[in-house]
Order: sequence, then C-alpha cells, then structure tokens
Amino acid sequence: MDKAELLTRARAAMEMAVAPSSKFRVGAALLCDDGSVFTGCNIESPTYLGICAERVALFKALSEGRRSFTAIAIAGGANGGCPPCGACRQILWEFAPSLEVLLEDGRGGFTQRRITYYFPEPFDRSKIDPTRPPTGRLRDRKTS
Ligand code: ZN
Repeated sequence: MDKAELLTRARAAMEMAVAPSSKFRVGAALLCDDGSVFTGCNIESPTYLGICAERVALFKALSEGRRSFTAIAIAGGANGGCPPCGACRQILWEFAPSLEVLLEDGRGGFTQRRITYYFPEPFDRSKIDPTRPPTGRLRDRKTS
C-alpha cells in the first residue's frame, strides 16, 4: 500500500469520528507488516472518556492479533495537521518503535517522520527494571 492510499484510508476514517462536542475530527490508518490496515477515528463521550483515532486503530489491530506495524497515517486537524498526543506517542512507540508517521498537513500534502521524532525520550520498562529490554514492545508476548 502506498502512502497516498494510506492517507486516503485515514481521511475516510475521519468521517466516522464521534465528536459531537468538539467537532474536531481525526482519522488514522495503521499499516501492519502483513499489509493489512486498521483504521480508527476519535471518539468523544459525555463523560470525557474519549479516545484518539491513533489508539483506536492500534487497539483494533492488536485485538485482531497484529503485533508488527510499519506506518500510520493521520488525517484531520488544522494548522499543519494533527500530530499524535502524548498518550498516543507513548503507546505507538511501545508497540512500534520505528513506526513511520504520515501526517496530513491540511494543504494537500503530508509530512513523514518516525515516531521517535515525536517521542525522542520514551519511558520504557527498562526504567522500572534495568534487567528488562529497553523497549516496551509486546510483540514477543503474543500468545496462542
Ligand atoms: Zn492521542
């Protein structure tokens, strides 16, 4: 799948946003290493327990057994697009430390940077237990 198609999938997901309060709509499309794509939109709730498009896409993929990801496209926002929030940066890095982030710029183009650009000094499990590997990836923990 090429970058333009992944961005198109993110824009389509943005149309599904549940954002009655903010009207702020975001869509994400996550490309897995097997070529499959999982999309997500932001979802607001009356109790403010909403979730971002990026985590919806990632959690959908994880819940379907995917553990390796190559790129995520994000559509929505204004003023140069909608970079992942702090929570999404942490979670995306944990599961895909070399993930490519395609960020629609709202002017017909996009930027492409690795998640480490947005999240250069991650908190990982090695900070809790120095005997553990430095990444938080759960890829190797997949169970049958
Ligand atoms: Zn977020």
